[in-house]
Amino acid sequence: MVISSSSRNLLVSRIYHVIAARSQRRTVTTYHHYLNHNQTHPPLNPHLSSLQLTRTLSSSSAKMSNLNQAKNIWRKANAVCFDVDSTVIQEEAIDELAKYCGKGDEVQQLTMEAMKGGMDFRQALAIRLDIIRPTSTQLRNFIHGEKHRLTPYVKELVYELHKREKEVYLISGGFKSIIIPVAKDLNIPTSNVYANKLKFYYDGEYAGFDENQLTSRSGGKGAAVRDLKEKHGYETVVMVGDGMTDWEAAPPADLFIGFGGNAYRPEVKNKSKWYVTDFRDLVNELRD
Ligand SMILES: [Mg+2]
Repeated sequence: MVISSSSRNLLVSRIYHVIAARSQRRTVTTYHHYLNHNQTHPPLNPHLSSLQLTRTLSSSSAKMSNLNQAKNIWRKANAVCFDVDSTVIQEEAIDELAKYCGKGDEVQQLTMEAMKGGMDFRQALAIRLDIIRPTSTQLRNFIHGEKHRLTPYVKELVYELHKREKEVYLISGGFKSIIIPVAKDLNIPTSNVYANKLKFYYDGEYAGFDENQLTSRSGGKGAAVRDLKEKHGYETVVMVGDGMTDWEAAPPADLFIGFGGNAYRPEVKNKSKWYVTDFRDLVNELRD
């Protein structure tokens, strides 16, 4: 027998109504809210007890409430901060630089460990750079020769944010000299880039990185958000990123939006009130 989707929804609605009414009136209201708003509802499991059903619906209701709160914050944000690697661009720039310098495999493994958030950021950065030891010439050739790949629709997203007079920042544990061409592509002023600086000796040999930069230490992205809030008096700031170091920046950021379009990290998804894999979702919420 073929059942149309509207009949199915009505049938599902009635079954829920009968079961849930036995346990808690509020639950029924919540489920009807799902149906009325065409939202994804929890699957109907005939083996669920009314208590389990109530819990399932309550948990879904809390998630929906979190998501709605997140979308409200997103729409009213004064400033939006994006992570760069695996967020604004599709790759991890330090891995690409390592490959360019012939140290790809050694560094990629360490980057993955660092992204999980279990390693001191500055230490992880120092270890990887000590392996790569890029010269100033290698860095310059890398920037000119290896074109970054922007994530689909990030350009449209930044355009829409600018159109609404929201300030856009790039906050990265990567390197400013590599990120500036990305910022230029997105019409983001270079003064809105928070990132690390590599140092070189006079002969061009690698000499370390500037440890005074906020982004060179653990918790650095949060420190950068706090800094720009203090400097500009923004009431609402949103951080968008793929990694745990981005999630850690909220607070002081008022909202973290997890992005999984380039790299999927379950621990980030689990902690995100709002997790997207396509920047068009963020654009659409601005337009609604
Ligand atoms: Mg990243």
